[in-house]
Amino acid sequence: MKTAIDITKLARPNVLALKPYSSARDDFKKNDANYVFLDANENPFNNGLNRYPDPQQHALKDVLSRLNGVSKEQILLGNGSDEVLDLIFRSFCEPNKDNIVILPPTYGMYEVLANVNAVKIIKVPLLENFQPNVEAILNTIDNATKLLFLCSPNNPTANSFQAEAIDKLLQSFNGLVVIDEAYIDFSDQESWLNRLDDFPNLVITQTLSKAYALAGVRLGICYASKEIISILNKIKPPYNINELTQQKAISELKGTIATQEQIQTILDERERLTVALKSIAYIEKIYPSDTNFLLIKVDDANRRYQQLVEEGVIVRNRTKEPLCDNCLRITVGNPNENKILVQTLQNLKP
Ligand SMILES: *Cc1c(COP(=O)(O)O)cnc(C)c1O
Repeated sequence: MKTAIDITKLARPNVLALKPYSSARDDFKKNDANYVFLDANENPFNNGLNRYPDPQQHALKDVLSRLNGVSKEQILLGNGSDEVLDLIFRSFCEPNKDNIVILPPTYGMYEVLANVNAVKIIKVPLLENFQPNVEAILNTIDNATKLLFLCSPNNPTANSFQAEAIDKLLQSFNGLVVIDEAYIDFSDQESWLNRLDDFPNLVITQTLSKAYALAGVRLGICYASKEIISILNKIKPPYNINELTQQKAISELKGTIATQEQIQTILDERERLTVALKSIAYIEKIYPSDTNFLLIKVDDANRRYQQLVEEGVIVRNRTKEPLCDNCLRITVGNPNENKILVQTLQNLKP
């Protein structure tokens, strides 16, 4: 439990002063059958997509709200997590003035978005065990630090951050702590969603791009306090989630049995791959994974990466990242893809 903080003191003054975009449609529910809608210059001939989508995605948020036990006012949806993260930057970080803290090696978009928004980046590298250096983070933050990004489970290191470390950071830092849970469905750690009401500075992002097999629809989800969500809503483009995405996300989220089976298959395959890769001599280390990928250390990542490309197997070379010397990041594929991967790795020239 953290004592209340004044979120309005964290947000940019020009954003606070904005009123969210409202369309005439917000005041007149689409499903009230008797309206004749002549307000938005749409084509009147029905093809299922001739109307603008619901700017607040009520039906989709109803499903997410029920699945996660979070109120709809605590949810904001974006065109992928990338848009959600960008909205957080633009709502809370004053360009050329504020700063953010990231913990490399981590997801590259935090740095990209900070640069796009002219926000200074403070890097506090993870410890050798890939855990956050809590003391160094708390010593580094200053009055201009608005956001701390915790990617847990982390990309590319594949591990989750210790709950005590995250708890301490949430308690001690009075800016927003953004926990990126893109890989939470592959982890045996509990989501921080259950702690949303304990921490007024907690922001959680999730995505349908990984476990839910919907990278193509672009749906990112942000969970936070009502206060934070209402600020993000002020700058959200009105129709950022298109109709097809809303429909597809609703139908997929309702059919979660298939998703759960796929996740289990990916976890089983992750285990099988781990065992198979252990017997390959030039693979020096397979890091424990809480995700749908494996980070492995090899003898020479540049050479192994190139050899794999020549065999038609594309992985990610992470050797230039801090703490990731000679490391490759390999997504867990389907059983057939993984068989090809293992055979190819086994047959590479020494
Ligand atoms: C893949 C990934 C995402 C997903 O981003 P989308 O824009 O939702 O596809 C977010 N965060 C991390 C750490 C990721 O690896």
